[in-house]
Amino acid sequence: METCIFCKILAGEIPSSKVYETEELLVFRDISPKAKIHLLCIPKEHFARLTELDDRREALLARMMRTIAEHHAEWGLADGYRLIINQGEAAGQSVQHLHIHILGGEPLPWE
Ligand code: AMP
Repeated sequence: METCIFCKILAGEIPSSKVYETEELLVFRDISPKAKIHLLCIPKEHFARLTELDDRREALLARMMRTIAEHHAEWGLADGYRLIINQGEAAGQSVQHLHIHILGGEPLPWE
């Protein structure tokens, strides 16, 4: 998808601060962090929303979650972290390429 900013990052057309990569996913630093550590985990395959999951993408999403579970300490998140997926306009989804926000590195307010 040539207009998708995350696809451009994956293609190396715009720079990013990568922290972890496999053949099917990328974890990189959010350019406008909402916490001391704010990472984004994206699939290399372009799709925008959870409603576009099929069996194969469901398994991919599970592997993204497992990657976060297995590697979070390497990313400075041993004390805990928060995962967020914004879906749709009302939730503030601004990039139409599925992504998991990974927030932490400090106590996170909840209420
Ligand atoms: P969302 O609002 O849930 O769609 O999240 C999109 C996120 O992408 C925002 O937190 C942005 O700060 C982040 N973002 C947009 N462009 C870039 C970029 N070039 N590099 C890193 N993060 C970006």
